[in-house]
Amino acid sequence: MSNLTTAIKVKNLSFYYTTSKVIEGISLDVYKNQVTAIIGPSGCGKSTFIKTLNRISELEGKVKVEGSIELFGQNIHDPRVNINRLRREIGMVFQKPNPFPMTIYENVAYGIRISGKCPKAELDETVEYALKGAALWDEVKDKLNTSALGLSGGQQQRLCIARALAVKPKVLLMDEPCSALDPIATMKVEELIHSLRADLTIAIVTHNMQQATRVSDFTAFFSTDESRIGQMIEFGATGQIFRNPLDKRTYDYVSGRFG
Ligand code: ADP
Ligand code: MG
Repeated sequence: MSNLTTAIKVKNLSFYYTTSKVIEGISLDVYKNQVTAIIGPSGCGKSTFIKTLNRISELEGKVKVEGSIELFGQNIHDPRVNINRLRREIGMVFQKPNPFPMTIYENVAYGIRISGKCPKAELDETVEYALKGAALWDEVKDKLNTSALGLSGGQQQRLCIARALAVKPKVLLMDEPCSALDPIATMKVEELIHSLRADLTIAIVTHNMQQATRVSDFTAFFSTDESRIGQMIEFGATGQIFRNPLDKRTYDYVSGRFG
């Protein structure tokens, strides 16, 4: 692993909603230009964990974070960090496609518009770049000014990916991005994830273990014990985690005995 660069370095991370601790002591490197899958049973803190990487979890109310998270060496909790910029650098795609009730074009242009003035020609270019990056351009190029809500579920999810790509993020976080999609739309998103990693770093939560083996380079297995607090049980190259897990709990989960 010596030729890998760390994009996000998580050290001894614990997270609380009000006073209830939901994840504890997680240390993990998310490598640049690699896809890292996070798997584990429901409620073990996978969503909380990835939402903490771009500080979206702080929008949930009174929360507490312990430990540290660095994005390319910069502490994301440093008071000098511009949180809007951080969330542009670390984009996110959610479980259910959530396009805005606007045109396809405006959905993709949204993030650029709110971050300042941009000449129309440049905006057009970026919208095209992002839609191409999300493998959606050919399907929508003739109807950019129609409502995004008229797209199929799979197209809407690729539109949300395009919206994230438009602001040129360094990292893309995906929380079960295919769970609301049919198998063909899922396959398209998986192919997209595979191609995006050339330019981008991706962390993806998935409950689908075949998906983790298909799309990821590294896998982190999270679980809870009697305390119900989420922990990282094992991290490794995806092939190792699925074929040769070192921890019995990982073995039981990936072989479908539990979960
Ligand atoms: P996963 O994504 O692995 O299913 P989550 O991160 O959604 O797990 O949830 C981890 C734990 O945190 C669960 O016990 C869940 O009930 C709790 N939790 C999630 N969101 C909140 C919230 N906004 N307020 C309080 N507790 C929450
Ligand atoms: Mg979740």
